Amino acid sequence: MEIREQLYQGKAKRVFATDDESLVLVDYGDDATAGNGAKKGTIVGKGAVNNRMTNMLMQQLAAKGVPNHFVRELDDRRTLVRKVQIVPLEVIVRNIAAGSLSARLGLEEGAVLARPVIEFCYKDDALGDPMVNDDHILAIGAATAEELAAIRRMALQVNDFLRERMAGAGIELVDFKLEFGRTPDGEVILADEISPDTCRFWDSKTHAHLDKDLFRRDLGGAEEAYQEVLRRLMAQD
Ligand code: ADP
Ligand code: UDP
Repeated sequence: MEIREQLYQGKAKRVFATDDESLVLVDYGDDATAGNGAKKGTIVGKGAVNNRMTNMLMQQLAAKGVPNHFVRELDDRRTLVRKVQIVPLEVIVRNIAAGSLSARLGLEEGAVLARPVIEFCYKDDALGDPMVNDDHILAIGAATAEELAAIRRMALQVNDFLRERMAGAGIELVDFKLEFGRTPDGEVILADEISPDTCRFWDSKTHAHLDKDLFRRDLGGAEEAYQEVLRRLMAQD
């Protein structure tokens, strides 16, 4: 396998073409941003944690029947994945109120939601990823009704799996963000990452943050927390 040109420089990962047109290489870095790039910094070791954790979870999700882009881990930061056309939506699933939901609805952080909530944001950095509903999504053609139904179903499947998986590691799954993509034959599969960058994890006993909120809110200890989440998950396997 030969690595070719860089296709995309993201805020946390770089994407490279390979000599296989159906695959891309994802390279996870330590750069951290928050507030749509307004705050910038580094979380040392985060790239390796996010790569390994995403790959472990993607393989377990595939076994549970959630199709996804994972193909092969190349080393501690780089992974081969199926190339997809990303559906331009951030799919957020919430179990406990936090972050922007708490602010918007005046809910105390930590309030348990009576049922999981799915939210969609339209992926557009220039617009600040505005929240959209099903009508907007269909009206602007961001996804079809069939795709949206599949995305909702898979998002809830990921939530069921991940909640239980994290609970086993003594971690509460507060909320998380997923991205989906279309394969060349039109199937919608789970893509991108599942990591402390994209999930809120709280210690089940102390409710301590074990995720990117440590960086966003300048609480300190992000490096250690990322390692701790991976360590606890690996100890379970
Ligand atoms: P951002 O674009 O928000 O800065 P990243 O730094 O994580 O985010 O960049 C990774 C990019 O790769 C994202 O735009 C993501 O949508 C995209 N991506 C994730 N998985 C795949 C895939 N399987 N095929 C193509 N693109 C992908
Ligand atoms: N999230 C993400 N990328 C984004 C926005 C949100 O991964 O661009 C994740 C975030 O880590 C959290 C969940 O989505 O787990 C919900 O985030 P929220 O809407 O509360 O946003 P925030 O408080 O970060 O503005």
